[in-house]
Amino acid sequence: MEDIAANVALLRERIERAAALAGRGPGEVSFVAATKTNGAEKVRAAIAAGVDACGENRVQELLEKNSQGAYAGAPLHFIGGLQKNKVKYLVGTVDLIQSVDSLELAELIGKKAVQLGLVQPILLEVNIGHEEAKSGVAPEEAEELLSRLSAVAGIEVRGLMAIPPAPGPGEKNDGYFEKMHHLFVDMRAKKYDNVTMSILSMGMSGDFEAAIACGSNMVRIGSAIFGERIYR
Ligand SMILES: *Cc1c(COP(=O)(O)O)cnc(C)c1O
Repeated sequence: MEDIAANVALLRERIERAAALAGRGPGEVSFVAATKTNGAEKVRAAIAAGVDACGENRVQELLEKNSQGAYAGAPLHFIGGLQKNKVKYLVGTVDLIQSVDSLELAELIGKKAVQLGLVQPILLEVNIGHEEAKSGVAPEEAEELLSRLSAVAGIEVRGLMAIPPAPGPGEKNDGYFEKMHHLFVDMRAKKYDNVTMSILSMGMSGDFEAAIACGSNMVRIGSAIFGERIYR
C-alpha cells in the first residue's frame, strides 16, 4: 500500500511535468487509475493517494468491487469492451463509459439512461491502429458515427478514447497519438448537439508522457501504480 501511494505521487509529478512541457497547467490532465485485477483495498489506497478517477474493464468485477465500497470518493469509469447485455448494470452507476464504439451500443445506453431519467456521459473509442483484435470504430468512420450519436437521447459524448498498438522495442506511438489529436480537433470544431468533445483519453503506463505531448488530457495508468497484473 505504501508502494501505491509512492507510485501515484511519482506518476502525478510526471504527468504534471509532461503537461507543463506541452504548455498546459497541472490540473489539465486527468489521472485515471486502471484498477483491473486489483482488489478493493488497493483501489482505496490509490484513491487515498489522489488519483482523479478509477477505470474498470469488466462489468462483473466492477459491480463486485463497487459493492465493497472500493471506489468511494472517486469518479468511476468503464474502460473495457462492453457487451450489450451488460449495459444495464453500468448506466447510472458509472460516471463515464469510455469504450462506446457503435450506434447500437450507444442506443442501448441511451435507452436505459432515459428510463432512469438521466444522461450518461460516454467517450467514443477509436481503433486508431486498425487492429482486428481491438474494439473501437475505425478512424475514417468515426465522424459519421459521431454525427449519429449526436441524435441519440440519453447520452452525451464527452470526447474520444484510444488504445494504440503496443510499440515494439525502441519504437514510439507518437504517430497514432498525433492522428488521434487531429481527429479530436476536427470533431470538436463540428459542434454537434449532445457532443462536448472536451476529453481525449489516451496514454498508459508505458507511453503516457508521449500521449500528453500529443494532446491527451486523460491518461489511464495501471501497472505503474499497482505493479504487474496477476490474472486469476
Ligand atoms: C489495463 C488498461 C490500461 C492501463 O494499462 P497499463 O499498461 O497497465 O498502464 C489502460 N487502458 C485500458 C483500456 C486498459 O484496459
